[in-house]
Amino acid sequence: MSQAAPVLIVGGGLAGVTLAWSLVQRGLPFLLVDRAEAVTSSKIAAGLVTPITGMRLNLSWRYPQLEAAARRLYQAVESKVGGHFYHQVDCLRLFRDAEQAALWRRRSTQPELAPFWQAEPDRACLRQHFHAPFGAVGIVGGAWLDTAAFLAASQRHFETMGCWLQGEVQSSSLVSSGALWRWQDREFAAVVWCVGWEAVKEESLAWLPFRLAQGSVLEIDAALGGESRVVTRGCWVAPGPNGRWRAGTTYDLAFAARGPHEPDPAVLEHLHARLRRTLLQQPYDLRGVQTAVRPAMEGSGMAIGRWPQRAGHFVFNGLGSKGVLRAPWAAEHLLEVMLHGQPLDPEVDLMRFA
Ligand SMILES: Cc1cc2nc3c(=O)[nH]c(=O)nc-3n(C[C@H](O)[C@H](O)[C@H](O)COP(=O)(O)OP(=O)(O)OC[C@H]3O[C@@H](n4cnc5c(N)ncnc54)[C@H](O)[C@@H]3O)c2cc1C
Repeated sequence: MSQAAPVLIVGGGLAGVTLAWSLVQRGLPFLLVDRAEAVTSSKIAAGLVTPITGMRLNLSWRYPQLEAAARRLYQAVESKVGGHFYHQVDCLRLFRDAEQAALWRRRSTQPELAPFWQAEPDRACLRQHFHAPFGAVGIVGGAWLDTAAFLAASQRHFETMGCWLQGEVQSSSLVSSGALWRWQDREFAAVVWCVGWEAVKEESLAWLPFRLAQGSVLEIDAALGGESRVVTRGCWVAPGPNGRWRAGTTYDLAFAARGPHEPDPAVLEHLHARLRRTLLQQPYDLRGVQTAVRPAMEGSGMAIGRWPQRAGHFVFNGLGSKGVLRAPWAAEHLLEVMLHGQPLDPEVDLMRFA
């Protein structure tokens, strides 16, 4: 790939913006084109980064490596633009039932998990505010990214560099020009598609096993007894911007008939019921709901690499429900592939689905 001509990045969510920052760090030119929609998956994400996740209490995939890459990038951006977006935060994991508590007793002997947990004393205050009949463990080494603030600050910075444009790029509007690609009278060395769930609309990517999940995040006011951690028991409450709490979330695969930002009232009501019955002892006030679609694949893995039918085009997708953790590492890896021909990690290569 020519390093003199810029890279065209289509889409300014976590994928596109982390890729842009990786190019900035290498001193390479780019143009990022984004529709600047008010609500996107990246803008409304709770932004949580959690080492031990899921019903089975597993260490998140390559967590130490990915979290180090994430912290490095977000903190470098904080220094560059001023501001604080990446907050270290611990998590209080309440066991769902006796079976999960027993599973944890076994898991807690695993050396790889040792850096990421601490015993949680049984406190009356905890039981007064949360449903914790089966006990809890403290999860350490996590974080939350204020995604909206990070994206807005990045956009402002790229605008001052002349590298950010509000607009829409259609794949059909790109014209091949020798080894380069032309779009609106400008030539690009490569095009990286960071368009989130809407990649599903590209016919020539239809073979990718998308498993798109609409999700909602609630903004709530709640008295949580001085708790400042993320608290989770299937559903969760987490610190959000402006000192408010957020709560979530839903996974709705059947959103097509309603549209990406229209939640199903029944799915939302189910979330409220779970929050009331399984997590929060005290009532809360609902201040808002935001809904978007996660770009996820079957098996929850990422899908990055060359767009097979189009020379010079790359896909950066499949961040799923872990975009904050995954995007910085994936952006760096994709650039190594594009610039230096490094082989793609087979665990993220989209061609594993071909
Ligand atoms: C309710 C909810 C909660 C979540 N919570 C978390 C969490 O706690 N932690 C976490 O890590 N992740 C979370 N996620 C997931 C996270 O949001 C995603 O992994 C991530 O945002 C995906 O980023 P993306 O850049 O691939 O896609 P998107 O955020 O969808 O960005 C794509 C961008 O491309 C633009 N675009 C699309 N087509 C075009 C085009 N043709 N031309 C120009 N622009 C275009 C769109 O407008 C958009 O700005 C959550 C998601 C949801 C919905």
